[in-house]
Parts: sequence; structure tokens; C-alpha cells
Amino acid sequence: MIIDSHAHVFPPEVTARRAELLADEPAFAEIYGDAAAKMATADEVLASMAEAAVDRTIIVNFAWHSEAIVDETNAYIIEQAARSGGRLIPFVSVYFGENAGAHGRAETDDAPAIVRNDVRTKLRRLATSGARGIGELRPESSGYNLANSDEADLLAWAAAAFDLPVLVHASEPVGHAYRGKHGLALDALYAFARAQSGVTIIAAHWGGGLPFFALMPEVREAIDSMYFDTAASHLLYDPEIYRRVIDLVGAEKILWASDYPLTSHSKALERTRDAALTDAELAAITGGNIARLLSL
Ligand SMILES: [Zn+2]
Repeated sequence: MIIDSHAHVFPPEVTARRAELLADEPAFAEIYGDAAAKMATADEVLASMAEAAVDRTIIVNFAWHSEAIVDETNAYIIEQAARSGGRLIPFVSVYFGENAGAHGRAETDDAPAIVRNDVRTKLRRLATSGARGIGELRPESSGYNLANSDEADLLAWAAAAFDLPVLVHASEPVGHAYRGKHGLALDALYAFARAQSGVTIIAAHWGGGLPFFALMPEVREAIDSMYFDTAASHLLYDPEIYRRVIDLVGAEKILWASDYPLTSHSKALERTRDAALTDAELAAITGGNIARLLSL
């Protein structure tokens, strides 16, 4: 079974409002302000999968700022997954309130409990409706700190309560600039993993390079429940990264991901098949690992 762990979908109604959303949604504008950045529907994901004989794909949400859009896109993702006969697996986004990142400040002393209850209720409802994970989150673009915040505690609570992996965008602290590079500093990702041990974290884009620090014993221990996806790999690293990261954290921690519609499933799969992996490694990375993680 071939499973893509990270593809993006948007409701056609949201894509139609693209220009308008660019003005109000900072994280969205960072990536989709480029007219060449494609937005796809669930049907387009299914067509791309069919062409490449991919069996299942995790469709992920985005780091929206507005609660209405978080709700609208979550509903679309859940609904499209439900009608796909298991081919699409839904990951949902979380709205943390107007003052995300400001919790704990004196002037918002009353806010956290109210916001917390609301977030808990929504996450419970989403999990009951079929959500299998949370993400793709971009904590820094969304204004909160994954290292130490109410938001981080809430995420960890939801992950544990409903058995939901948390998919976070991660990016390299060095190297070339690109749209969407900002999203999560490596030290915040590490701090979250340390503070919330046991929470299953999927660190996108090879975890921004965090696996390279796995030679430090304390890092290896902290990232014990962390998986690394290969989304956008061809734009970031030499193909050799597969072998190097396997040596550092093991093939069982790597999840094949297309980042569709950034690239088609067939192209993404071809690149991974060209990475000189053993049959067992390839089978684990392109489906076995995520199937085990989500008990598929
Ligand atoms: Zn990402």
C-alpha cells in the first residue's frame, strides 16, 4: 500500500476567494501570494493519486488566521475524506482564538479558559467526525510558540486524548530563502518534543534538519516519538538525504510525502524510488510506517 503523508487541499469556494484571503491571512499570503503556487481540490488529489497508483493520501489543512475559514476548510477535509472510501485521510487545523500567542498576558487573563474550552470542544467534535491528525500547523506564522504556551499544551492534550499525530511545518535555520520558509524554529520543535514526550509529532520537510542532531544522545531521546516527512524534499536536499537520515534515525521514522500540488504524486514517487533504498526501506517509507502509525 502506497500512502502519501502530506498533500494540500482547499475547498473550491476558498480557492475562489484567493485574492481576498491574501489580504487577511498572513501565512496564506506568504505562500499563495505567488500566483504560481497551485491550490487543488480533493478530486484533483484523487486524480493525481490514480495516475501514480497511490492508494491513500493524508489531506492536510493550513494555518488559517480566521476561525470561520478554519471551520470551513476542516469541514471540507472531513467531508471529502468521508466520501473517498478511505483513500483520503483527514488532518485538521485548530483555531486558537483572536489573541493566539498572547495567552497568559495580564490583559487577557480571562481569555485562556474560555478559549481552551472552545478549542477542546471543537477538537473533540473533529476527532469524532473522523479527523486522524492535526496539521499542517505553522506555529510561528500563527503567532504562538510551540516551545512553551497554552497552545502547545492544548495540542498535546488533543493529541493524547484522541490519538492524533501533530503535523508541524518545519524549516531549515540555514540555506536558501523561499516562500513559506518561516514556520517553526528548530529549537521550538525540539522543546515541544521534550516537553510533550509521548505525543506523536510529524515534522514536515525532514524536520528542518533536526534528524542531523540525532547524534546527540539527548536529542535522539527527545525525538523518539517524532516522524519526519519528505514533503518538498527535491527543492531542499540532495537525494542522498534518504540514506543519511535512515542512518541517523532509522527508515521507520521517515514518511513519504508529496506536498501535492507542489509536485504530482508520480513525480514525487519517482524521486523517492530513485533514492537507492532497499525494497524493505522503500516499502516502509512509502506506506508501511504511516499505516502502522495510524493503524490503517
Ligand atoms: Zn510545510
